[in-house]
Amino acid sequence: MNDTIFDKILDGRIPVETVYENEDVLAFRDINPKAPVHVLVIPKVRSERFAELAHRPVEETGRFFAAVSGVAKILGLNDKGYRVVINNGPDAGQEVEYLHAHILGGRTLNWPPG
Ligand code: 5GP
Repeated sequence: MNDTIFDKILDGRIPVETVYENEDVLAFRDINPKAPVHVLVIPKVRSERFAELAHRPVEETGRFFAAVSGVAKILGLNDKGYRVVINNGPDAGQEVEYLHAHILGGRTLNWPPG
């Protein structure tokens, strides 16, 4: 697998504004935010796509989603709400082939997305 921009962020080659980190995940602000709060959460063990989680240990996947939920709480989004988005593949517009969850909040989010 070639290094993606998120591999470079994870090992410090590209600086980011980190909002949370533990042994499983890194959470940082998106460089091109689509909402007042837009944070990306990536697992430290790389999957390229969400589709691969069907073959990953469920404990690892569970810790990833627990971390996403925890980051949203840290960001103060629990009361007013937020959206978690994972783009998988070209039709969804996935640009970076490294699994990542978007946390979007701080404004009313339209549904369904375009
Ligand atoms: P995708 O379309 O793959 O789901 O989302 C990729 C996200 O990564 C985009 O929202 C984009 O703005 C963000 N992104 C791309 N390059 C960088 C970068 O170098 N730093 C940060 N913080 N975010 C990035």
